[in-house]
Amino acid sequence: QLPPFDHQPHPYNGPSADEVFAKRKTFLGPSVFHYYKKPLNIVEGKMQYLYDDSGRRYLDAFAGIVTVSCGHCHPEILNAITEQSKLLQHATTIYLHHTIGDFAEALAAKMPGNLKVVYFVNSGSEANELAMMMARLYTGNLGMISLRNAYHGGSSSTLGLTALNSWKYPIPEGHVHHVMNPDPYHGAFGTDAASYANDVQDHIDYGTSGKVAGFIAESIQGVGGAVELAPGYLKLVYDIIHKAGGVCIADEVQTGFGRTGSHYWGFETQGVIPDIVTMAKGIGNGLPLGAVVTTPEIASVMAQKIQFNTFGGNPVCSAGGLAVLRVLDKEKRQAHCADVGSYLLERLRFLMERHDIIGNVRGRGLMVGLELVTDRTNKTPAKAETAVVFEKLRGYTRTILFYACEALFSKITSKQS
Ligand code: PMP
Repeated sequence: QLPPFDHQPHPYNGPSADEVFAKRKTFLGPSVFHYYKKPLNIVEGKMQYLYDDSGRRYLDAFAGIVTVSCGHCHPEILNAITEQSKLLQHATTIYLHHTIGDFAEALAAKMPGNLKVVYFVNSGSEANELAMMMARLYTGNLGMISLRNAYHGGSSSTLGLTALNSWKYPIPEGHVHHVMNPDPYHGAFGTDAASYANDVQDHIDYGTSGKVAGFIAESIQGVGGAVELAPGYLKLVYDIIHKAGGVCIADEVQTGFGRTGSHYWGFETQGVIPDIVTMAKGIGNGLPLGAVVTTPEIASVMAQKIQFNTFGGNPVCSAGGLAVLRVLDKEKRQAHCADVGSYLLERLRFLMERHDIIGNVRGRGLMVGLELVTDRTNKTPAKAETAVVFEKLRGYTRTILFYACEALFSKITSKQS
């Protein structure tokens, strides 16, 4: 039984979408590149809500792009950025600066094992570029291994690691081996982690000299559709990679900072400790910020080269990042992700029992996927039918998403008031 649904949609008496867009065109100007033909014109963000130029309010269940985990313009983060802006807006890691130092210290304290040295960059792509550079420099090998269906960035080298053709364009991609992703739903071996790990060994045996630079994976493939890797997979593969002289990189751009609910870092769900961890998105709650954390041993090899960039470790972003770490702990966001995420999964599974069009419900914490199919046995993806299906599901999904999101934010909002 669905819980009673007494939520009244926010009354909207504004102009139609076309009227709004006519106005927007002049506002946006033709020189701005946009992903959508008719993008929303967002003018304000307050915690879980976004407002467009017509005053319409949206519940931002996408959290920016899986980024604004603490809410838009969160007061404590806003205050930290504002105060730092008044003092110093630009510095790099070629200076000593206490905000950068404090942030690095706080971040390193969140890491397990010997992951103690922090490098600051500006995005997830840059973090993965740097991680790949570290792997190659440290091992002296070239070959990188990444999973099919992975997204690791949009820069030339990281597109090489990415294995989703909709994102690719012709670039020279050398020395990257894309192995089978251990996808329990679509993968040929179901949840049999050992069989997928054999594929990694095969690639090393037949596609390389026997030595590799590194392996990179997300514990839950985000852009690939909330695909959680088969349990035990990373442990087996980390062993294989280490034996082949490589290092293991965890891409925590989406899975980090408690988003999986059960753990602070996604790799912990697989019981491994990587040699290099990359992060972005949630680290700055929307600020352009990324980081790579590694061991002193790898860092000492990196130290043989010049490594800093103009904006990495920017004090305003660092002050924001430091506040994010505080807010995540203080407001117990990880526990909250676990709480709301399991509720969301439960309700989506409830839907799945009633609708054949839902082939799979999966994920962890607030990285949850629902896959639509036209045929459950063959798992044929629903494409053209999707719009119709969404229309059919609308009442239910809206109810469930509404409950999930309200539950997610109600505690936070009440704390703030
Ligand atoms: N890694 C993962 C797992 C991502 O999801 C993304 C962004 N979607 C990136 C790397 C690249 O991050 P950015 O867009 O900040 O370059």
